[in-house]
Amino acid sequence: MNLFDVYPLYDLTPVSARGCTITDKNGVEYLDLYGGHAVISVGHSHPHYVQRISDQLKKIGFYSNSVQNPMQAELATKLGELSGYGDYSLFLCNSGAEANENALKMASFLTGKKRIVAFDKSFHGRTSAAVAMTDNPKIVAPINDVHDRVILPLNDIDALHSALSTGGVAAVLVEGIQGVGGCRVPDPVFLQKAGQLCKEHKALFILDEVQSGYGRSGKFFAHQYAGIQPDVITVAKGMGNGFPMGGVLISPEHKPWHGMLGTTFGGNYLACAAGLAVLEIMEKEQLTENAASVGGYLIRELSAFTTIKEVRGKGLMIGLEFDGPIVDLRKKLLFEEKIFTGVTGTHVIRILPPLTLSKKEADRFLETFARVVKNM
Ligand code: PLP
Repeated sequence: MNLFDVYPLYDLTPVSARGCTITDKNGVEYLDLYGGHAVISVGHSHPHYVQRISDQLKKIGFYSNSVQNPMQAELATKLGELSGYGDYSLFLCNSGAEANENALKMASFLTGKKRIVAFDKSFHGRTSAAVAMTDNPKIVAPINDVHDRVILPLNDIDALHSALSTGGVAAVLVEGIQGVGGCRVPDPVFLQKAGQLCKEHKALFILDEVQSGYGRSGKFFAHQYAGIQPDVITVAKGMGNGFPMGGVLISPEHKPWHGMLGTTFGGNYLACAAGLAVLEIMEKEQLTENAASVGGYLIRELSAFTTIKEVRGKGLMIGLEFDGPIVDLRKKLLFEEKIFTGVTGTHVIRILPPLTLSKKEADRFLETFARVVKNM
């Protein structure tokens, strides 16, 4: 059987990794500034992470949610402590798309309405409901049009006001910082007003922090720069450092009932061990603070390059927009300089390294980048 060919692949086979370094089958080392779609939060193969998952697997790895699994409560408590959302509740699932799917379902249940408002260039996952919330024609299949959705320009508070005023809106869904959209940051005042409007119109305000959460922005959640508290927050990616897991954080204003949401794999013992290991390492090594300082340093230094049209983002979630295509620049960085980067479209490079990135590693990138762009 062949693999269904939906991903363009580089001719490169990683066989091991540690911290921010990936080693391929020929023993060549690469600096990882991509983290496999921003999932590597505490670094590759962190010893505490490896130990906790290995120990757990020897005890019990998987069982359905019909029994008491005290690790789920332990994870919820720790997440509440580190994120500042101790009074919220946690629903555990397996991915970012599933987290958003559940958030949308919950909004519809709680409000009795079905229209969802999202924003241009947003991305919320590839399940039927989540994918419908994007305006990218490449990934929205005709069947997704059955969803009652409205896509508005990001930061346009008047457009949002009009959309809410028509009635029928169950939720407004926005990313803390746009990931696939190229690290566009919502305006804090827009987020504050959007939250107020949602309250007035009895719609749920959902912050998708799947990519921008878990310390990546230099705060636990990117929306915390705006000083807001949404009804619902969705998480995944960095939550398990690559272990497939996701979560929905729900405000105490919204009450659950049995059967409202459900999952077979979500919150299994092994996932909880991964999630706990991530939070323990983040706390001990102060990785959110590291993302703020090393990320801030990178953003300042990169902003001085006249070859870059715009530097966007916060912390270690950085988008570099160029006037022209960046395909050759990325290839040079990867194959000649051994540095992995991410991409959005044709003109934007994305920097999404593990949150453990050191200043020395950041300097290696800056020096290499300066040399490469000078010689192009
Ligand atoms: N939401 C955001 C902001 C994302 O960036 C992504 C993935 O890139 C998703 C949701 C979907 O997550 P997953 O691929 O885990 O389903």
